[in-house]
Amino acid sequence: MNATDLKYFKSYLLEQKSNILNKSTEFRSEQLSAKQGLIDEAEVASLDNSLSLSIQLHERDRSVLYQIEKALSKLEEGSYGQCESCGDTIGVSRLKARPFASLCIQCKEEQEDPRNYLN
Ligand SMILES: [Zn+2]
Repeated sequence: MNATDLKYFKSYLLEQKSNILNKSTEFRSEQLSAKQGLIDEAEVASLDNSLSLSIQLHERDRSVLYQIEKALSKLEEGSYGQCESCGDTIGVSRLKARPFASLCIQCKEEQEDPRNYLN
């Protein structure tokens, strides 16, 4: 991977990270203003539903955030783009499609091969 690619992935990851962080800040202030506007029980119930939906989305963001942090620390270490299983280069085109990929396509396919579950 060359310096241009590294720069590309780093700025992509940092952008994704700030998107999620901005979103979670918005989420928190929405939650706060919703609570302040509570009127009756029925509204509390419907609010609970919409909140749990937001929290689910939030959970997913958190797992993406974890993957971003992991990828960023690999970028720092210089191991970004290396397969965690066989140590091979994952390939820039695969990483552009899946920037959080931690396995090369061969290892990924092996991992997903249903025959492996029989072992
Ligand atoms: Zn591999």
